[in-house]
Amino acid sequence: MKTRVRAKVVGRVQGVGFRPTVYRYATQFGLCGFVCNGPHGVTLEVEGDDNNVGAFFNCLTHEPPRQAVITDIKTEVLGTKGYRNFEVIESEQQGLAVVHISPDLATCDDCLKEILDAKNRRCGHAFTNCTNCGPRFTIIRDVPYDRKRTSMAKFEMCEPCEHEHHNPHDRRFHAQPNACKRCGPVLQLRVEGGSTSDDADLAKTKELLRRGRIVAIKGVGGYHLACDALSAESTARLRSRKQRPHKPLAVMFRDIAAVRELCEVNEAEEAELLSVARPIVLLSRKLTETRLARGISPDTNTVGAFLPYTPLHHLLLQDFQALVMTSGNLTDEPIISDEAELPTLLGPIADAALIHNRSIVHKCDDSVLRVVNGQRQFLRRARGYVPNPIRVAAPGTPHILAVGGELKNTFCLVRDGQAFLSQHIGDLKDYKTYSYFSCEIESWKRLMRIEPQVIAHDLHPGYLSTRFAAIARIPHKVGVQHHHAHIASVMAEHDLHDPVIGVALDGTGYGTDNTIWGGEFMVADRSDFERVAHFKAYRLPGGDKAVEEPWRMAVSVLTSEGLEEAGMRKFSAIKWGLVEKMTKAGFNSPWTSSAGRLFDAVAAILGLCDVTSYEAQAAIRLESIADPHVTDRYPFIVQTWDRPWVLDFGQTIRAILTERRQGVAAGAISAKFHNTIADSIVHTCRFVRGQRDLNIVALSGGVFQNELLLRRTVEGLQSRHFRVFTNTAVPLNDGGLALGQAAIAAERVKRKCV
Ligand SMILES: [Zn+2]
Ligand SMILES: [Zn+2]
Ligand SMILES: [Zn+2]
Repeated sequence: MKTRVRAKVVGRVQGVGFRPTVYRYATQFGLCGFVCNGPHGVTLEVEGDDNNVGAFFNCLTHEPPRQAVITDIKTEVLGTKGYRNFEVIESEQQGLAVVHISPDLATCDDCLKEILDAKNRRCGHAFTNCTNCGPRFTIIRDVPYDRKRTSMAKFEMCEPCEHEHHNPHDRRFHAQPNACKRCGPVLQLRVEGGSTSDDADLAKTKELLRRGRIVAIKGVGGYHLACDALSAESTARLRSRKQRPHKPLAVMFRDIAAVRELCEVNEAEEAELLSVARPIVLLSRKLTETRLARGISPDTNTVGAFLPYTPLHHLLLQDFQALVMTSGNLTDEPIISDEAELPTLLGPIADAALIHNRSIVHKCDDSVLRVVNGQRQFLRRARGYVPNPIRVAAPGTPHILAVGGELKNTFCLVRDGQAFLSQHIGDLKDYKTYSYFSCEIESWKRLMRIEPQVIAHDLHPGYLSTRFAAIARIPHKVGVQHHHAHIASVMAEHDLHDPVIGVALDGTGYGTDNTIWGGEFMVADRSDFERVAHFKAYRLPGGDKAVEEPWRMAVSVLTSEGLEEAGMRKFSAIKWGLVEKMTKAGFNSPWTSSAGRLFDAVAAILGLCDVTSYEAQAAIRLESIADPHVTDRYPFIVQTWDRPWVLDFGQTIRAILTERRQGVAAGAISAKFHNTIADSIVHTCRFVRGQRDLNIVALSGGVFQNELLLRRTVEGLQSRHFRVFTNTAVPLNDGGLALGQAAIAAERVKRKCV
C-alpha cells in the first residue's frame, strides 16, 4: 500500500544536518517527497510503501542527527501525490519563526582528520566545518538559518564547496558556514606597528607564543589572550598587563591526554571536557605536577581547563601542551569581538593579534562549569549552551522578558513556555556592558520572534536592569525579590510546583524591607514567598567598599559582637578606629544579612584576605585552605522567639578567636566554620519542616559555589531525609537570576496577578 505522510518537526532541527539525514533515510527506504526548513522547524513529506514510511519515521526519531533535539513531531496522512524523487527545497520564510537556533558546535572528528591530512584540500584550514560542527549562534543574524542570514554571507563558495553544499550525500550538504582555503575566511597576523598576511601567519603566531609573547586570538565568540601556560614568566606578564593579579586564568590543553597528565580528572569531568559544547571545566591540579605555571590560579589548587573547539585551536595547540586562553577584555568590560576594538588589547596587553575576516554577530564567552557530586554546576553559561531553551511554564503563556540582576547579568525571554536564557553578559555597571545588554535584548527578540508583554525585574531600584525595565515600553511589569528569584530558578529547572524550603545564600540582594539580604530561608512557591529565617544582620561599613575590603566586615562583626580583639589590629589604629566608629554609628553602613559577607569577615579574621582583587576572593581563599578531614563544628544559635528566625553566629566568631589565640591551624578553623554553616542550614530546615510539613529544599545563590559548603549541606540534609535540589542547568550565582524571574512572572500571569 502506498501512502503519503506530511510531518512538522519542531526543536533544534536547523543547522545540525537535519535535512541531509532526512534525505538519506528517505532515499534509503525508496521514498519520494521533499524536506525544507520552515518557520516552525522542518517540514517534510514522504511518499511510498507504508512499511517503508514507518521505517523511515522510526529511524528519524530514534537516530536523528547527533546534534539535533526533536521536541515535537506532528504527522498527517494524506492522499498520494505521485512524487517522482526526493528533494531538499529552499527555506520558506514567512510567518513566525519559532525554530530553535543551535549553539556553536566544537570541531567534529571528521573535520579534524581533514585539517591534519596533508592530502586533503582542507589541510591546515582554520575555518573547516560541516553539518555536525562549526559556528552557529555567534554568526546568525536572522532565521531561518541560511548562509545569507549569517556572517558567512560575504564569502562566495568556490565550485568544490558549492558542490558539497548541494550534494545530499555529502557531510557538508547545506552546511551553511561551509568554506575552504580558496573561498573561506582568512587569517591575518597583526603585530604592533605593521601587519602581515600570508600562509605563514599561523607558524609566526606559534613562534611568538614559543618566545613567550602574548597574542590576542580571534575565536568564535570573541578574542582570547593567549600565552604559553607552562611559562611562569609569560603568565606573570599577562597578569600584570591585564591588571589581574589573582583571578584564575583558563587553560586550553592540546587534548585529553595532556589534561590527564597535569590535572586530576574523573569520568564525568572528561565527558564535559569532550562534549560538543567544550566548556571550561574546573579541575584540581595534580599535586605531583609543577610544570603548569603556578600563577595560573595562585589562590586555589584548581585549573579552569578546556579543549580546542575550532580548527584554529587544534592547529595552534599542535605545538603546545597547554596555552593560557583567557577572555580578551579589560576588567568588567565585555569580551572584545571586533577588530575596531582591537587597540584595547593589541599594544597595552598583547604583542600581536591573530585576526580573521569572519565577523562575530553575537559576542559569547566560554562557559565555565564544574562537576560536584556527579552533577554539573555552571559558573558561567554561554558558548555551547546558548540559546538552548529550558522549559519554565505551560505553553500559552504570554511572551516574557526577564532582565536579570546587576552582576554576572543574563536576561531571559519566554515564548510558549520555553525560556531562552541569554549568554553571560557581565557587570551592567560598566557602560559598554550595559549597551551590549540592551543590543542583545533587541537582537534576541528579533531572532526568537518574541514581543514581550510582560517584563520581570529585580526589586533593587539602583540596578541598571531595573531601570531598563522601568522605562521599557512593555505594559506589564513584575518586580521579583532577588532571593525568591534564585529559589524559583531551581524550581523551574526541576519542574517543582509545590512549596519548598528555599535557602538562598549570596553576597547581596535587595530585601522587601529595603535592607540588603543574603542569608535567606524562605517558604516559597513560584508566585510568592515568606521569609522564615535569615542570618543575623551586621553593618556593612562603607557599603560597596566593604565588599571589596573584607577587613571592614571583620571590624563590623567583631565590634557588634563586643569582641574587641587586640591581636586583630594589624591595620593602622586610625583606619580600624574609623570603621569601628562607622559601624557603631551606622554611618554609611547599611544592615546586611549576607552570608557572603560573613565568609569575608572570617577570612579577614584569619588573615587570609584584607582587600580583594576579584569577586568572592576571600571566600575562595577560605575554602581552599579548609582541611576536609575535620568534621567538628562551632556552636551557633537559631533564635526562634521572633519571626523571622535569626541564625546567630556570635558564638562561632568567639570560638574562632579563641582557637586562633590557641594556635589552632587556620585550615582546621576554616573547615569547622564551613561545617558550622552547613549544620546551621540543616538545623533551620528541620525547624521549618517541623512547622510547615515541607520536605523539599532548594539551594541557590553564589555562596553555594563553595564546593565544600555545598557538599556538607547536601550530605547533612540528605542524611535527615530531605529531598535536595540545586541549579544544574543555569548558574546558581546571579547568572541564573533571570530564569527565576521569568518563572515567577509566568506563574503570576497564570494566576492572573499581573
Ligand atoms: Zn565537522
Ligand atoms: Zn571553497
Ligand atoms: Zn544573588
